[in-house]
Amino acid sequence: MAAKRSIPRKPKHSDLPNRGLKWVIFAVFVLMAALYFIQQWMNAHSVPDFDGGRAFNHLVKQVALGPRIPGTSGHEKALAYYKQILTPLAEKVTPQSFEWRDRKDTTKVWHGVNVVASFNFKATRRILLLAHWDTRPFADQDPDPANRNKPVPGANDGASGVAVLLELARILHENPLEVGVDLLLTDMEDLGDYDHDENPNGRNPFSIGAQKFVEMNPKYIPEFGVLLDMIGDKNLRIPYEKISITNAPDVIEKVYAAAERAGAKAFVREDGQAVTDDHIPFLRRGIPVVDLIDFDYKYWHTVLDTPDKCSPTSLKQVGQTMLELLYHR
Ligand SMILES: [Zn+2]
Repeated sequence: MAAKRSIPRKPKHSDLPNRGLKWVIFAVFVLMAALYFIQQWMNAHSVPDFDGGRAFNHLVKQVALGPRIPGTSGHEKALAYYKQILTPLAEKVTPQSFEWRDRKDTTKVWHGVNVVASFNFKATRRILLLAHWDTRPFADQDPDPANRNKPVPGANDGASGVAVLLELARILHENPLEVGVDLLLTDMEDLGDYDHDENPNGRNPFSIGAQKFVEMNPKYIPEFGVLLDMIGDKNLRIPYEKISITNAPDVIEKVYAAAERAGAKAFVREDGQAVTDDHIPFLRRGIPVVDLIDFDYKYWHTVLDTPDKCSPTSLKQVGQTMLELLYHR
């Protein structure tokens, strides 16, 4: 009995395109999966790196120019320094000058300048990042009474926030964003009298420059804003500033979530004190601006507010948090 031989079946004509189709589907699936993972990888790596050393350099340079009090050479030189750094980086740099008649010495008129550096100028969706660039004319919290009429060097109180913004300008220039970003350096934040609220007519307020900016730009309504003030302290610790968490809790949440992604341990989810600062004129206008501030700084308004009390790693924590806020998708 002869073994039954199986005769190889000739493929039906119609099998060939089916098999081909399966391969095509498989290849498309593999390609899509690969694209998905590449996209995920790119999202995770799309946030640029903040250079704390470069920012610290900006801090040291500002302090070396001298106190930044309107009417002094330090003020003039610092303004020139900001223009020199920002003009090649931003699409538009606009200095906005204003005047302020002193309320204690009514013969004196202060000349202040706010500086705005805009990126992606045409975008309608905008984010504001700000810091004050002036320094307090009198170190009235100095333990030594002989120093209380001397100016504050303003390494942490003034230069630190601006230093972070100047390094951010370089990164924004190199990594364009779809959203518009405005960096605002406010003048005359820090010549206010502590008892201004009790006697508003005979005392100067804080945040004169920020108030003037809000008045001079009534159509400017960014989605939200972040104020950086006294963020250079070596032992940096940034709890929730009370006025910010009360009036703009969503922005606070966004910032602290960004800090977590950046691994910025200085940001602590704890209630801090209320600070009279440049966010207030914006909040009054209904623009949610939060204040990131480490108010626990023993050299505050003393002649000892110098660069050695600050550190590049502190600036990096805040700068990297701002980049997570802007670039994370
Ligand atoms: Zn101050």
